[in-house]
Amino acid sequence: MAGIYVHIPFCASRCAYCDFFSTLRLADAGERYVDALIAEARLRHGELRGERVKTLYLGGGTPSQLPVALLLRLVEGLRDVFDLSGLEEFTVEANPDDVTAEWCAALPSLGVNRVSMGVQSFEDDILRLIGRRHTAQQAVEAVENLRQADIRNISIDLIFGLPGQTVESWTASVRKAIGLKPQHISAYGLTYEEGTWLWHQRERGEVIEVPEEQCLAMYRILVDELQAAGYEHYEISNFALPGCYSRHNSSYWNDTPYLGLGAAAHSYDGDVRRYNPADLQEYIDKVMAGETACEQEGLSRWERYDERVMLGLRTARGIDAERLRSDFGDEAWQHFTREAQGHIAAGHLAVKDGNRYVLTREGIMLSDAVIRDLLWDE
Ligand code: SF4
Repeated sequence: MAGIYVHIPFCASRCAYCDFFSTLRLADAGERYVDALIAEARLRHGELRGERVKTLYLGGGTPSQLPVALLLRLVEGLRDVFDLSGLEEFTVEANPDDVTAEWCAALPSLGVNRVSMGVQSFEDDILRLIGRRHTAQQAVEAVENLRQADIRNISIDLIFGLPGQTVESWTASVRKAIGLKPQHISAYGLTYEEGTWLWHQRERGEVIEVPEEQCLAMYRILVDELQAAGYEHYEISNFALPGCYSRHNSSYWNDTPYLGLGAAAHSYDGDVRRYNPADLQEYIDKVMAGETACEQEGLSRWERYDERVMLGLRTARGIDAERLRSDFGDEAWQHFTREAQGHIAAGHLAVKDGNRYVLTREGIMLSDAVIRDLLWDE
């Protein structure tokens, strides 16, 4: 089983907090980029080693900025290269202002069955402050448009710790999201990435960072409200109604190979990580000349151990210690179980089914520190 990620790096404008690779050059580069994606798919399809493709994910940037005709060209091009007949999940990321009735109507014929929307907040003044182009009302209408088009698997992204957000206003945003009954909700704490507009504003004292304690309170509210509404907390930042976990993202957390196409996309085949350049022109020029654009890095046994621990502990399934032992040997298992003891005693970790190590609720609040202790750290 494998997944394909396709990076669509075009955005209509730059959000104040964002440091993802994206550009405003859709008009002059969109067509060439889609052709390059298809060319790259032809060059690299062998990396999936014949695994069946179960998930396809168009992420960004803003994939919903791509005109439907180009989206169609891309999907048909991918179908020519890969056997997508066993596809279980096809997600497209979207910004609410793009999710018009016309756009939604095109999705089922493309095979899209899941849309992940960057809503971020239901407060218009905060949305304006962070440079989002949509309003809270547009997010509500976008969900309605998706349902009208029979898209039954909808995910909403939220951000907490935004400047100006209070515990009360965050609680209202979470409740508003729940009220829309999406199948999936992801929520991330704001980070001030160096070089972003918001980072500069903070440096100049124009925005005030929400204190860490308040961010933790917001996170607790998020967990409580979503669990009370029937969402399963299956990964630190991800919640889903039963049966609606993101299959594609789950493959990142459980070591499933994936092929990443496009500028700045990453891939993993079980042994090797590959990285495409975060440069639109370099990416297009290379793949159109018949070269793969990626650099690669083989992971040592201990790097793979660290990844397993880092990603596994973020999930509700946790780390299977016996599998850790069979994959990485006794030394790794002893290190893990020994380092885990203190955190079990402190109530940060629990052992389930005799073998699975999972973060407790308190452990989740301290996840960075707990996970750091369990890494091999050569
Ligand atoms: S739309 Fe998404 S990728 Fe584009 S700038 Fe905003 S946050 Fe970044």
